[in-house]
Amino acid sequence: MENPVVERMSEYNHEQLLFCNDNATGLKAIIAVHNTTLGPALGGTRMWQYNNELEALNDVLRLSRGMTYKNSISGLNLGGGKAVIIGDSRKQKSEALFRRFGKFVESLGGKYITAEDVGISPQDMTWVNMETNNVVGLPGKSGDPSPVTAYGVYMGMKAAAKKQFGTDNLAGKKVAVQGVGHVGEYLVSYLAKENAIVYISDIHEASLQRVSKKYGAIVVGLDEIYEKDVDIYAPCALGATVNDFTLDHLKCSIIAGAANNQLADETVHGEIMKEKGIIYVPDFMLNAGGVINCYAEVKGLSSEWAMGKAEEIYQTTTNILERSQADNVPTYKIANQMAEERIEAIGRVKLPM
Ligand code: NAD
Repeated sequence: MENPVVERMSEYNHEQLLFCNDNATGLKAIIAVHNTTLGPALGGTRMWQYNNELEALNDVLRLSRGMTYKNSISGLNLGGGKAVIIGDSRKQKSEALFRRFGKFVESLGGKYITAEDVGISPQDMTWVNMETNNVVGLPGKSGDPSPVTAYGVYMGMKAAAKKQFGTDNLAGKKVAVQGVGHVGEYLVSYLAKENAIVYISDIHEASLQRVSKKYGAIVVGLDEIYEKDVDIYAPCALGATVNDFTLDHLKCSIIAGAANNQLADETVHGEIMKEKGIIYVPDFMLNAGGVINCYAEVKGLSSEWAMGKAEEIYQTTTNILERSQADNVPTYKIANQMAEERIEAIGRVKLPM
């Protein structure tokens, strides 16, 4: 048999997979616990109509591992996990389905803590919460993570500017923000306050006009954003926008944004950016404000604490950039190494118990 499941788990050393099925509610889900060395595995639940089960399995394995790295490099006492519910989020949702899913989460005894992800609403999580307390991001709790995420991105961007331009003052610097949704708009507000020259693009015309008017940002076309002569490119919409095509056009010397999985192929494009002298701030570290906000909810910490923790992204970025330069290794690789090193070190601390 090609790619048997347990063999796939051993590829990246996943601890546990829970396959969930319930004919009565139509629930089909997979919960992946990648690593719990640092603490309970935290990661959202995604509802998506996958073409087949293998696609769902690949997604949950990849995403849960990503959460381990994000939580580790952010200095949080959390492991990495993720869940996928296989189905159409517009047609197959019900209270019963989410409560049944909540029972599966509860069966893991706190080893996995869930949250909202693509296709899931706060209402869905309220249903999950009826069967388990291992849920964060509920209405009325830690709230919208976007301001914290945007603040972390802004901090990392400033640290990269310090390295690239010798100053972290962004006044007069040209920044292209792709996507002015939740995170993008907050980021634009920080940049405008510091008198940066901000270019914005979005597929949603109304958001574009509103943000442009509110912060004096300059509207550019969807593809034009890759051509603009700017200092910093901040992808805050989609993944994989750093690719063979855009790297031929981008004129920036820093890439720092909130989007997940910005590099189409990290080994190829991470290396190209290093050769071109473009500083790439690794996305999973830079956009950790969202999970920092969740962690504050788990631990009962304040929103001030979350903003303070997001501010540490400045120092983490500096550390990554210095080590990348000293070792002559792309930044994404250094970030992965740093995440792995913390798990290893804390794993050793925990052993003697
Ligand atoms: P959002 O949906 O609120 O905003 C995304 C914006 O991008 C929307 O306004 C959308 O119209 C626009 N967009 C879509 N396609 C586009 C295109 N081709 N060109 C330009 N704009 C386009 O999402 P968000 O919460 O602001 O998150 C932005 C990104 O950051 C996502 O990739 C998300 O996964 C990531 N992220 C968000 C958080 C958070 O706290 N919200 C945390 C970590 C990572």
